[in-house]
Amino acid sequence: MNEGWFSETLYPDFRQLLRVDKIIYQGRTGFQDICIFDTPRFGRVLALDGVIQTAERDEFCYHEMIVHVPMVAHGMAKNVAIIGGGDGGALEEALKHPVGKVTMVELDDSVVRLCREHLPSICGDAFDDPRTELVFMDGVRFVRETSQMFDVIIVDSTDPIGPGEVLFSAAFYADCRDRLTERGVLVTQSGVTFMQDDEARGTFARMDKLFEDAGFYITQVPTYGAGFMTLGWGCRSPEPRATAPDEIRRRVAALDLGARYYTPEIHAASFALPGYIEALKG
Ligand code: SAM
Repeated sequence: MNEGWFSETLYPDFRQLLRVDKIIYQGRTGFQDICIFDTPRFGRVLALDGVIQTAERDEFCYHEMIVHVPMVAHGMAKNVAIIGGGDGGALEEALKHPVGKVTMVELDDSVVRLCREHLPSICGDAFDDPRTELVFMDGVRFVRETSQMFDVIIVDSTDPIGPGEVLFSAAFYADCRDRLTERGVLVTQSGVTFMQDDEARGTFARMDKLFEDAGFYITQVPTYGAGFMTLGWGCRSPEPRATAPDEIRRRVAALDLGARYYTPEIHAASFALPGYIEALKG
C-alpha cells in the first residue's frame, strides 16, 4: 500500500496497481497477511500476503466458473467439498444447486470471520445455510483423513506459495481422487497461464496420471490480470465433460443460478483452449 495505491506483489516482473479509496482492515492472521480495501473500479477487494484473492465487481467471473461447470456437468451432485474458499463466494454458488451438503475446509478462520463482516456481498448468507458444514483445518489433512465421498471437490486455493502450496501436490490430488464418487469431478484453481504457465503445466501433468479425464477449462477474471485463468479438471469418468449441449441447457434451465458469466454456451466453450494453453498439456 503506497500513496493510495495497492501494488500486488505476486510476480517479480509484473505489477498491477489498484487505486485505494479506503483501507477497511489490515492485519496478520496466524497464517497470512490480510488486507481488505475499497477501490473505485472493483469495489471492495480481499488480498492475502499481498495477492488479490477476490473483488466485489468481478468475483462472479471466477466463482460461477469454478462451481457451475463441474456441478452442471455432474448433474446430480449431492455431497460437495470446497477446499479453501474463505471468502465464501464459491460456497454461495454451490448452494444454488440442489445439494445435500457442502463442506468447506478452510485453513484460516480469520479469513472467514473478516469476509463475513466486511465482504457480505460475496458470501451472502452462505455461511448460515443449514447445508453448509464449515471445517477449519488444513485441506490436505482433511482429504487424507476423511471417510466421506464427494461428487464434486472444488479447490479454491491461494497461489502455490505460502499455506496454499500443499494444495497443488500430486499426493493431495491423489487423495482427492480417492474421495470422489464414480463420476466425481475435481476442479482446481490453476493460475493465470500467461504468467504462471508452470502451475498449469504441473497441475495437468499430475492430474493426467491420476484421472481418466484430465484437462483444463478457462475463465477471464480482470483482477487476476494478464489473460486467461485455467481451472484444472480431473474426473474419474469421461461422461461429465462429454454431456451433450442440449442436456447442459436443460440442466441450467432447471436451476435459478442468476449467473452473469456462466451460460450453457460458455460451459462448452470454456473447454476450447487457445493454442498456447493447449500446448501446456505436452
Ligand atoms: N479465488 C482465490 C484465488 O484464485 O486466488 C482464492 C480465494 S480463497 C480466499 C483462498 C483460501 O485458501 C484462503 O482463505 C486461504 O486461507 C485458504 N487456504 C490456503 N491454504 C490452505 C490449506 N492448506 N488448506 C485449506 N485452505 C487453505
